[in-house]
Amino acid sequence: MLQHKTASIDGFRIIAMLMVIVIHTGPLHSFSESADFVLTRVLCRVAVPFFFMVSGYFVLGGEGQRHPTRVKRYLKKTALCYGAAILLYLPLNWYMGDFNGQKGAWDFLKAFLFNGTVYHLWYLPAAIIGIIIAALLIQKAGMTTALIISGMLYAVALGGDSYYGLVSQIPAAQAAYDALFRIFDYTRNGLLMAPLFFVLGAWIAQKPLPRLRTSLVGTVAALIVMTGEALTLHRFSLQRHDSMYVLLPIVMVFLFSALLSVNNAQNRRYRTVSLLGYILHLWVIVGVRRVAERLGLVDILVRQSLVHFLVVAVLSLMISFCIAWLYAKMRRKEKPEGGKCRAWIEVDLDAIVKNVDTLRRLLPNKNEVMAVIKANAYGHGDVAVAQHLYAHGVRAFAVATLDEAIALRKARVKDVILILGYTAPSQADLIVRYDLVQTICDADHARILNDATEKPIRTHIKIDTGMHRLGQSWEDIESISDIFELPNLRVEGLFSHLCVCDSQKTSDVAFTQLQIDRFWHTTKQLGQKGFDTGKLHIQSSYGAACYPNLPCDYARIGIMMYGVASSPHSPLPDSIDLKPALSLKARIACLRQIPAGETVGYGRACCASKDAIVAIISIGYADGVPRNYGSTGAYVLVRGERAPVVGRICMDQLIVDVSTIEDVAAGDIVTLIGRDGQEEIRCEDFAEYCETITNEVLSRLGRRLKRVY
Ligand SMILES: *Cc1c(COP(=O)(O)O)cnc(C)c1O
Repeated sequence: MLQHKTASIDGFRIIAMLMVIVIHTGPLHSFSESADFVLTRVLCRVAVPFFFMVSGYFVLGGEGQRHPTRVKRYLKKTALCYGAAILLYLPLNWYMGDFNGQKGAWDFLKAFLFNGTVYHLWYLPAAIIGIIIAALLIQKAGMTTALIISGMLYAVALGGDSYYGLVSQIPAAQAAYDALFRIFDYTRNGLLMAPLFFVLGAWIAQKPLPRLRTSLVGTVAALIVMTGEALTLHRFSLQRHDSMYVLLPIVMVFLFSALLSVNNAQNRRYRTVSLLGYILHLWVIVGVRRVAERLGLVDILVRQSLVHFLVVAVLSLMISFCIAWLYAKMRRKEKPEGGKCRAWIEVDLDAIVKNVDTLRRLLPNKNEVMAVIKANAYGHGDVAVAQHLYAHGVRAFAVATLDEAIALRKARVKDVILILGYTAPSQADLIVRYDLVQTICDADHARILNDATEKPIRTHIKIDTGMHRLGQSWEDIESISDIFELPNLRVEGLFSHLCVCDSQKTSDVAFTQLQIDRFWHTTKQLGQKGFDTGKLHIQSSYGAACYPNLPCDYARIGIMMYGVASSPHSPLPDSIDLKPALSLKARIACLRQIPAGETVGYGRACCASKDAIVAIISIGYADGVPRNYGSTGAYVLVRGERAPVVGRICMDQLIVDVSTIEDVAAGDIVTLIGRDGQEEIRCEDFAEYCETITNEVLSRLGRRLKRVY
């Protein structure tokens, strides 16, 4: 069983949101001026940089860096939020007299672009401008230069913020800042402050993490020094505004690393809640004041700063959680059920994306996921899965056959599509026409393909390192070199396949290591001979999970992308939390009373020992439920309860015993894989009853099952 883990990064968003409320309510204000300063003007200043960093991490980190899709989605979402927030706060603008004619178009533009139309909303335009700058810097100039330039922008921002008192001593600097302050009121904005934190988020995604202890000690030490810095600046009244410090980026890097090493799983709900809380809390503050005035409770509810904070925080959290919950519920409602089908498959495409993300994070940054969507994406529906993954930044796909590859191209899936299996030379032109990448099975295959075409075919050469299936032998450097020399083949990569990487047995681990060593030996030899070996890959799902740290360019992920282990006997490593994407469902066609002694189904294989009620289910072996499924103790879920499968599976139907389940009716939904109430049948369980592995079960699910996404 997989365990659900809390996501510390997304969890901290809630804390950061509360920190922003702290800044806007000053809980310690009633008690001590300096404690209030340290809390609101120093410690809680990590909140907004954290939001920028976390977006940088998820949007620009890893694969995202070369793929503008994520940035576009982020921009769209943030712009929508900003639009909604502006509308939401219009009454407040009105009330504060923003529209009384004193402000010109320039003031509105300034507010819109930099300052926020209400003061806390500056964050949203800053996120938009900041991520654009950060993405461009990383893409055009590379990570190091991006760090340097965004660091310089931050230095300029500091000069107009906490260090203004010092910097403005220099007349030229003062003049420059005067000019800047005509454009915006603070240097804390998307142009100067935000880019550094977005870049840092992306940078951390590429780095090996320090140990948790190091990060924690670093966080505390840096926070202490930053407090010293702030108090000194405050003491000499050097701060024009107090949102940035020299130490702040250092604090952030340590803090963020610490959170990542605790757990980097994701939790969407927390994201929604923190964003809602951020946007809404100002209205809550206004509301609390109003109510306090009405009730004559201003002295406690507003002037008592700690109570004020607690009331605002709790209300903001409650409202945000309620809205997020309602929203999630509405979305779930919208999901279509199998409708009127007799039998169907429900696929959670977002689970597949999440699984890809999870696996991607295991691997070194250079190693990208090549999504394996052969056999109709292991039954999940190849076009839908590939298009969804493409939209989420995956840029390499693998299939088994030419036809599968062409189907994806026709569905406008771009970039690399590698055909893992044999293609006949008579079809060489199709490989070229659809710009596919063909696996070279061995030197003979290479020659006949080369002779079959005039235009260059893109290829990856398969190396046999011990599986003895496809591939040119790893030792035969001569023959592999000859393949490189063929004029009509364009070798873009080299790969091999591991055959026992799912096993932890000592001898199997040794064999896998031997295969890996052989592969590197071959690539090195070829490199020394001056060949460009291109993209290198050897891991499949278990290869990636059990041997994540190989310097490959791709990991060919199949089964785990769909959120399941191959079998309960080769479980996933504990650290990998995957979500199954597929459910298999059918309906009860009709119910039958079976008197004791009567038999049911073909071959009279099942005989009722006492009076029984059976349900005839509209799914059979033509849909992928094997004929002997009933003979191994298998069951299905009906009304959240287990109903044992009885008799032999027919081509289009199967029979279950529902004697002990109440209120069963024709038309009821039956779950063969997936969850119903408290009960769940995992794909691994289903495969056990079939006495095979999940890979086979899934890839055999019938074409006539409707896929519902
Ligand atoms: C099917 C296949 C994969 C994917 O394997 P999984 O174990 O499902 O991840 C990878 N490489 C090759 C060559 C394959 O045929």
